[in-house]
Amino acid sequence: MIPMLDTKSDLKLYEEEIVKEVLEVIRGGEYIFGPKSKQLEKEISEYLGVKYALGLANGTDALILALKALGIKEGDEVITTPFTFFATAESIAHVGAKPVFVDIEEETFNMDPEEISKKVTNKTKAIIVVHLFGLSAKMDEIMKIAKENDLYVIEDACQALGTVYKGKKAGSIGDIGCFSFYPTKNLGACGDAGMLTTNSEEIKDKVIQLRNHGSEERYVHSSIGVNSRLDEIQAAILLVKLKHFEDMLDKRNFIAKTYYKGLNNNFHLTEHVQSREHTYHQYSFRVEKREEFMDYLKGKGISTMIYYPIPLHLQTAFNYLNHQKGDFPIAEKISDEIISLPIYPTLPFELQQSIIQSVNGFLTK
Ligand SMILES: *Cc1c(COP(=O)(O)O)cnc(C)c1O
Repeated sequence: MIPMLDTKSDLKLYEEEIVKEVLEVIRGGEYIFGPKSKQLEKEISEYLGVKYALGLANGTDALILALKALGIKEGDEVITTPFTFFATAESIAHVGAKPVFVDIEEETFNMDPEEISKKVTNKTKAIIVVHLFGLSAKMDEIMKIAKENDLYVIEDACQALGTVYKGKKAGSIGDIGCFSFYPTKNLGACGDAGMLTTNSEEIKDKVIQLRNHGSEERYVHSSIGVNSRLDEIQAAILLVKLKHFEDMLDKRNFIAKTYYKGLNNNFHLTEHVQSREHTYHQYSFRVEKREEFMDYLKGKGISTMIYYPIPLHLQTAFNYLNHQKGDFPIAEKISDEIISLPIYPTLPFELQQSIIQSVNGFLTK
């Protein structure tokens, strides 16, 4: 069976280097926020072109601390997309604010900027924009609406490290960028890790305090924070992988291009993006007879996945928002038809070809 991803074979490429670095951490005795963590913060901030990058326990914490640092709380509204991983909207609910969804674009699967203005009220404080599957959202339009309405912009770039929009890296454009190094992400650790980025000194100071139980000075607490630490062993592993990261993104782009060129046009493919505007965390497209398609490919030994089968406005957890089917027709349609193919840097060329052959075979079977 060809898997959706193969984190083991991707890691195997740098195994020796990683083992050496991890051993150094174990022998060094600093296991939380030690020299490797600080180095990773420095290198990620340089890579993204932002003033500050702050290590956290995971990407969900980055979103929650972003909202907290901006003072977003009960009674506030935050605009976001219903077509994303649950954590995006969950973070809004966690700080007591209300997630306000807007529909997506059929071609990009990202938030439709034209829908945002219609949802702004006097309670709206921020927009959380997601660069879904690695493709940059339309940031110029979104930043313009934010400016006109005096809203903060948080970029959920958990799937988009390395994505570039008009010369700027995803996560460096809004007020705050949120990143995840969950093992399946484009830059994945061997456990959980995350990061928050900003150019604001004030936000940086606030997040440093919040991630450490609201404390700047040991055993002195000025606010209610959380425990969200970057693990030193994960930082050491990520530093090794970061050195090869651009190569890994090239490999993803190459696979995506191979799929785009090889797959039959009768599938609803999204045009291939040659530039870093897309970093292909997922290779996704629409297919109408999805169940049948998945069964067929399973029979051919090919894994597929549905990201995401239920849009967030129809999730039980958000019943209290009183949404109905039909509220966000494009997100619903995409949820019914989307499918993702295996994509990972070490996916061999021959397997890419056999995936293409099998997928195309579905149309003539
Ligand atoms: C993975 C992901 C998150 C959460 O990151 P964790 O590190 O798993 O907490 C949030 N948003 C999106 C879009 C993600 O893909």
